[in-house]
Amino acid sequence: MHQMTLAEIARGLADKKFSSEELTKVLLARITQLDPQLNSFISLTEDLAIEQAKAADARRANGESGALLGAPIAHKDLFCTQGIRTSCGSKMLDNFKAPYDATVVAKLAAAGAVTLGKTNMDEFAMGSANESSWYGAVKNPWNLEHVPGGSSGGSAAAVAARLLPAATATDTGGSIRQPAAFTNLTGLKPTYGRVSRWGMIAYASSLDQGGPLARTAEDCAILLQGMAGFDPNDSTSIDEPVPDYSASLGESLQGLRIGVPKEYFSAGLDPRIAELIQNSIQQLQKLGAVIKEISLPNMQYAIPAYYVIAPAEASSNLSRFDGVRFGHRCENPENLIDLYKRSRGEGFGAEVQRRIMVGAYALSAGYYDAYYLKAQKIRRLVKNDFMAAFNEVDIILGPTTPNPAWKLGAKNSDPVAAYLEDVYTITANLAGLPGLSMPAGFVDGLPVGVQLLAPYFQEGRLLNVAHQYQLNTDWHTRTPTGF
Ligand code: GLN
Repeated sequence: MHQMTLAEIARGLADKKFSSEELTKVLLARITQLDPQLNSFISLTEDLAIEQAKAADARRANGESGALLGAPIAHKDLFCTQGIRTSCGSKMLDNFKAPYDATVVAKLAAAGAVTLGKTNMDEFAMGSANESSWYGAVKNPWNLEHVPGGSSGGSAAAVAARLLPAATATDTGGSIRQPAAFTNLTGLKPTYGRVSRWGMIAYASSLDQGGPLARTAEDCAILLQGMAGFDPNDSTSIDEPVPDYSASLGESLQGLRIGVPKEYFSAGLDPRIAELIQNSIQQLQKLGAVIKEISLPNMQYAIPAYYVIAPAEASSNLSRFDGVRFGHRCENPENLIDLYKRSRGEGFGAEVQRRIMVGAYALSAGYYDAYYLKAQKIRRLVKNDFMAAFNEVDIILGPTTPNPAWKLGAKNSDPVAAYLEDVYTITANLAGLPGLSMPAGFVDGLPVGVQLLAPYFQEGRLLNVAHQYQLNTDWHTRTPTGF
């Protein structure tokens, strides 16, 4: 039962092969049995899940239908869930029970999805390995000595290990696509503004975007359908109609123009990954796509620009965690300054403290122009590169990551080494573009992802290309041994 995709579950539930309650119980038991190896969940919501599953079964019995009605999912633990711990992977919010549901959570619940729990993540979504979580590192089900990627590592490990079919995640600089690549999943970061950020604890507000992590493009289409849409509570939400993503999955790739940036194949890319990307290009050519070399000349400046902008926004967003308004409060403070200092010093981990310091520095008087303003100018150049490229091609293709998942602890002493691994993903966030990662093969038994980028609001195009690819390849069907 646990091997089913969301699409298969929807068919099974519609055909009354099993109930949502039965399926939910099977998956909860599986999580209890297997998750101790992975640490992919921070909280399990068993009672809520059974209650939601029963309600979904009752709605079906009353004649309602829907691809998400009775479908078991989990939420990355930065989506606020009313009355349920929403920790953001931090000690700071270890005892925080959200007073309301995030829009994404409310929408999916209304569609009948069943919440099995809250998944582990890097503290405040800062990281690429899921090692900065206060609840401990998450292990990659493909090799328990390796990281699952981050920051949505819990969602990725859980779905990859078949503990559940799909989960929500967020992507500020790659946190949906990179863990998807590291665990053999399909993950989609939507266009900025497509999915509401209301109730999604902010890391870098101009970059953060929620999206689906699942095994197939078909399942990402189903989950995205339930997440996307205008939300008056989010001032950056965009009032554009949401297309039927599943309906866009049948289009031929004949004549599709795929741009391959020459800058992607530089010295930093593992040659074995480069070869797998070439194979995926050939596969898409067989399906009728036309390949064109393009250039993204400002890509080399994207990492430094991102690692100024994201920490700058984080330093501002995280100021609310002061032990008074939100978050951990230290014992017996001597005065207000002592309260702030010790609450924040105790409540935040090393990586989060580093980002707050870098961000506050970049925003300080005298340095603002040199760092923050400069980074914003680079951001515009990165966007312009994409706009020029999309005049010539329909999608852009390349590797999701320069290397496969590294060993636990391998980059802990060198944060910049981890930052460099984000080279292919962060440009889409800087430009606000949609991006998808899908399975493209293995290196040393570890999964490799291929990334597709599209113009604004062309999520349907990305999902269709990935779906056509998945109809003709079987990488996405591989299951990690032991799961
Ligand atoms: N690795 C990037 C960072 O640490 C991206 C994280 C994310 O997308 N949330 O900022």
